[in-house]
Amino acid sequence: MKKGLLIIISGPSGVGKGTVRSFLMDEPSLKLAFSVSCTTRSPRAGEVDGRDYFFISHEEFEKRLSNNAFLEHAEFCGNCYGTLKDYVENLRNEGKNVIVEIETQGARQIISKLNEDDEISIFITCSSLSELERRIRGRKSENEESIFSRLNKAREELKLAPLYDYVVDNDDPKKCATAIKQIIKNKLKLS
Ligand code: ADP
Ligand code: 5GP
Repeated sequence: MKKGLLIIISGPSGVGKGTVRSFLMDEPSLKLAFSVSCTTRSPRAGEVDGRDYFFISHEEFEKRLSNNAFLEHAEFCGNCYGTLKDYVENLRNEGKNVIVEIETQGARQIISKLNEDDEISIFITCSSLSELERRIRGRKSENEESIFSRLNKAREELKLAPLYDYVVDNDDPKKCATAIKQIIKNKLKLS
């Protein structure tokens, strides 16, 4: 069986990565799977452990880090996030094309490590920082401090878009997902 692709999807917090992903997952022919990351942040209302993230303590995160369990990891606005190496490898070995939805420091670590034949990187962006702020506020998940810190981070992250193979604007999540599906199909040489 052919090993699956690693599909890196990045973009500032609140740009709509999770929303776009829900539209991507509706196409079985792409054989997509989502890499569930570990995080030390607390679950938001409605988030489920093992589906959205593996919610773990700082101690557990450090333990996994010292056991070399992460393909990449980063600190983002006061919390730690990491992609589990085995989780991704197992899915790819089953032929799944695995989406890792991560911020830019982690994406840089993977982009520099992997062979371009089996990896693709996509940066999702939006029209302005004020639109980003509107989206983060609209999600009602963050306090003022976290909104401020995420917007500050976004200023830096937006500058890194040229590192990625593709930059896709999310002015509409369904359209954005359609554009990403086409990028993945082209990479897989599907029509
Ligand atoms: P991320 O996963 O990048 O942090 P989310 O998917 O949680 O972002 O989206 C943040 C908020 O923006 C959500 O409330 C979502 O419904 C909204 N959103 C997503 N895409 C768009 C869009 N194209 N236009 C307006 N709002 C959007
Ligand atoms: P949030 O707290 O909004 O869920 O995530 C904050 C940021 O961390 C988002 O940009 C999200 O995509 C990113 N993120 C989620 N999981 C990982 C991961 O495993 N590694 C890295 N580097 N970033 C992650």
